[in-house]
Amino acid sequence: MTKIFNDPSDFAEEALAGFCDVHADLVRQVPGGAVRRFRPAQPKVAVLAGGGSGHYPAFAGLVGAGFADGAVVGNIFTSPSAQQAYSVAKAAESGAGVVFTYGNYAGDVMNFGMASERLAAEGIAVENVLVTDDIASAPPSESAKRRGIAGDFTVFKVMGAAAENGADLAEVVRLGRKANDLTRTIGSAFAGCTFPGAESPLFTLPEGQMGLGLGIHGEPGLHDTDLPSAKDLGHELVARVLAETPPHAGKRIAVILNGLGSTKHEELFVLWGTVAPLLRAAGYTLVMPEVGELVTSLDMAGVSLTITWLDEEVEPLWVAPAETPAYRRGNAALEAGARGVEETADGGAAAAAFVATDASREYAAACVAAIDAARSSLHDAEERLGRMDAIAGDGDHGRGMVRGVDAAAAAASAALGHGAGAGDVLAAAGDAWADKAGGTSGVLWGAALRAFGETLGNSSAPEPRALAAAVTAFADRIIQLGKAETGDKTMVDALLPFASAFSRAVAEGVETGRAWQEAAQESAAAAEGTADLLPLKGRARPLAEKSLGTADPGATSLAMVFAVMGRTSPAPPGPKAAPPPLRRRPLSHDNGREHHGAAAHCRRG
Ligand code: ADP
Ligand code: MG
Repeated sequence: MTKIFNDPSDFAEEALAGFCDVHADLVRQVPGGAVRRFRPAQPKVAVLAGGGSGHYPAFAGLVGAGFADGAVVGNIFTSPSAQQAYSVAKAAESGAGVVFTYGNYAGDVMNFGMASERLAAEGIAVENVLVTDDIASAPPSESAKRRGIAGDFTVFKVMGAAAENGADLAEVVRLGRKANDLTRTIGSAFAGCTFPGAESPLFTLPEGQMGLGLGIHGEPGLHDTDLPSAKDLGHELVARVLAETPPHAGKRIAVILNGLGSTKHEELFVLWGTVAPLLRAAGYTLVMPEVGELVTSLDMAGVSLTITWLDEEVEPLWVAPAETPAYRRGNAALEAGARGVEETADGGAAAAAFVATDASREYAAACVAAIDAARSSLHDAEERLGRMDAIAGDGDHGRGMVRGVDAAAAAASAALGHGAGAGDVLAAAGDAWADKAGGTSGVLWGAALRAFGETLGNSSAPEPRALAAAVTAFADRIIQLGKAETGDKTMVDALLPFASAFSRAVAEGVETGRAWQEAAQESAAAAEGTADLLPLKGRARPLAEKSLGTADPGATSLAMVFAVMGRTSPAPPGPKAAPPPLRRRPLSHDNGREHHGAAAHCRRG
């Protein structure tokens, strides 16, 4: 149970601020995360680790000489946004390129991928190295789909040491991928973890049971078994990892026996008493093994065993010195370069000048009202969506949607206040959603809203077909980024029925409001139907069986949002006032609920 917190939703940010203060000699906080206190004297590859919070010392605790150059820090168990990744990269980059490295989760892949596109467009060399060490999360034939857990630690360490030695970007990436190919982890959970402020853990295990194959986002184990003795547990973990020994592997290994957050060191040492002799008996030399908490999952009770098979390239990097807040090895005298220039807080956020017609602005006000309506429904549904996501995922879907829609509503309202038309209002809403929600659904919703806005534009209130085109653009963007197909048990299963029903009805000449409502009904039915599906994408995939019988949370929330947007009662389009010249709206203009009576989604066509 997490007992020390203020507002639970501020937990991750407050923890990061405290961490950066106490370790101010080694790190400094920047928008989106933390970077080393000192910039390197010579250009070097910036190794940027990242992911959600809740895994300390991963990832910010590993920023320092010989290890990471920076950490991109998301909310608890939630991918950081592309904006955060971009901003940390800009702060850490020193002229030799950037490599993002993280566990293989859809949200992280998309957000770091989008940040990479942006950096590359600015001419910064950028690469991504994904960690896929969890042998429980997919069979060997699908090893690229495996998620990253405690193997993050050795892979990041190898890359950090290589970059410190002056390796170029391609070499750091090659060595990181090699280390990942040589790393395997299996974990075991004894009790679930609890979000700050939550009343119950993300999962519970019956007394005397353990879950083998845990995840580090509070995902339960894949198979529940009787809780064994320490000896039997040691045998089980060692046997499972060694069964996946990489081809042509040598006899020297790095070993990590990792606690997940609330496992005592003494317990780990007891387990080590079985693990180490078994490995030695199998002919291995254990090189600088680590027993401790290195990649955690809030207060989860559990343990994982990681082995990285070493060779003549990887071993020197594994044993190389490092000096970070949470991890010190050898004597990594700090490269005392010039002190980094403090980032100014988010420059360039000055209000852009918006150009729009009055018709588009009027329509934008209706869109703001629709987002506001979605906002109150999502607040009401937050807990339910979180519970659905906890069954096979990480329980953050409700919180992520709420954070996203709150940010979107504020940004949309501010843009409207600055005189933005519908396209810019929705694009601003999308950017804010993606930045604040984190997670897979956050990046998808954010990017899709932006695509919706870009398709609408700012020159008129959309005709029905233009609205249908914007809905299609929304759906296309989600499919393009997430690559999910119908039947994968994702939000796409609720989205495509909506998009096709709406386009069809519009083409048949059905009134826009009715077309929207009918499409929303189809979407809701399709969302319910996902209960019968096995998830093939996203965090829930490794626990597919457990999710049978429960609808997909992302599909459920999507159907809900589309329905609620259609429910805000449409105002009949009044006679158009004579178009006044383009003018700016006062900033304080309240675009909130007073618009509820206006067309929510765009029913004026
Ligand atoms: P995370 O999985 O990162 O914790 P959320 O819990 O907020 O993110 O969202 C989970 C939802 O995201 C799932 O229920 C599913 O609908 C959706 N999702 C996951 N992966 C994909 C994907 N590749 N494409 C489309 N939707 C996806
Ligand atoms: Mg989730």
